[in-house]
Amino acid sequence: MLYSNLSVNDAGHLCVAGIDACELAATYGTPLYVLDEDRVRQNCRTYVQAMKTYLPEGSYPLFASKTLCFKGIYPIVESEGTGADVVSAGEVATALAAGFPADKLFFHGSNKTDDEIAYGVRSGVGCFVVDNVDELATLAREARSQGIVQKVLLRVTVGLDPHTLAAINTGKVDSQFGVPIETGQALRFVRQALATEGVDVLGFHSHIGSQIFEATSFCDQVDRLLAFACDVRDELGYVAGTFNLGGGFAVPYVEADPRIDIAANIQAIATHLQSGCERNDYPLPRVLMEPGRSLVADAGLTLYSAGRIKTIEGYRSYVMVDGGMTDNPRYALYKSAYTVLNASRANAPADFACTIAGRCCESGDRIAEDVFIARPEHDDVIAVLTTGAYNFAMSSNYNRVLRPALVVIANGQARVAVRRQTIDDHLALEA
Ligand SMILES: *Cc1c(COP(=O)(O)O)cnc(C)c1O
Repeated sequence: MLYSNLSVNDAGHLCVAGIDACELAATYGTPLYVLDEDRVRQNCRTYVQAMKTYLPEGSYPLFASKTLCFKGIYPIVESEGTGADVVSAGEVATALAAGFPADKLFFHGSNKTDDEIAYGVRSGVGCFVVDNVDELATLAREARSQGIVQKVLLRVTVGLDPHTLAAINTGKVDSQFGVPIETGQALRFVRQALATEGVDVLGFHSHIGSQIFEATSFCDQVDRLLAFACDVRDELGYVAGTFNLGGGFAVPYVEADPRIDIAANIQAIATHLQSGCERNDYPLPRVLMEPGRSLVADAGLTLYSAGRIKTIEGYRSYVMVDGGMTDNPRYALYKSAYTVLNASRANAPADFACTIAGRCCESGDRIAEDVFIARPEHDDVIAVLTTGAYNFAMSSNYNRVLRPALVVIANGQARVAVRRQTIDDHLALEA
């Protein structure tokens, strides 16, 4: 099994955190998002502990809300000691509605609206991650008008593409996120921020990408960020006390993917930062990280019912499920690989070659191509693993397919955290 929270019971059914997946499907219907709370907690603990152990005081992870934003996630991550990064008024409001402390929110976004900025300041958001000079001016004006000094991090781009290290330069300098170091704009950005009343610059933010398997990319990022921080110190006399390294650690989606040891990677990054700081006689900054996928992806799975099963002679077989790109658009967007199991026959040999297709009128609506599962019958429960990140959050109502419910499992009990959408929910928006 890909994950230790999966098992098979006497009935031959897949179990998640000890609960029979077929029973979950029967009780709550399909498609169904399932989240193992304990797994989320363990993932948070790994980050919190490692960052506490290896990095300066005040270093901690921020849960990247965009991966899985619903009220019920916030008390879980908060009680494990994380902050949260949010990227819209909607995510701020969801976190606050769940009782998440505003001062542990970091407000991201390359195009926050003026209303969102005003709302964030008014709500006491702890820190804005300012993306550009324009935003800086609006934010500072808003902070002054509300009579506060807003803490900020300045988002810079270090010019690193973790997936194509050979083509280092152009890829990431040319981005709609942040201000590039290479063009000299980031230095001007800092100069301007330091001269702006109403904001207090805590340090810098940079995010290099997602689904990254090695610490080397983050070490390169640290090198560039530190070099920039040294330039800023030499030019402007300002020493940054916080480095926010963004998110990006990978998770295994299929057996062939490497497993990564997050704690060991954090230690490697910490050691690298420490020696860089010593070399440059730079005071060790506290470090923030923004893991998303690596906190929640492997805690989630999606259950479907197998519908029509179709064989195109000479080509392939299709198993069609009652969801698809509406609840998981990642195959359609990125051709992402997933592990699929027949949860109703988890002990049977996985010898049926098929493509798992969704129900939308779109030939790209697939969940996995050319996978092997135990030969399904109509109404078997099909489980797709590692769907905790970027699935629920990216779901849509394409074809007027309704969004699934989300159940959270804790202490051997399932609870509905988000109920299934109804057609009335949807029609209520319309005149
Ligand atoms: C997407 C994103 C994250 C989270 O990335 P993961 O790969 O899910 O860990 C963190 N910070 C920023 C700024 C992001 O855009």
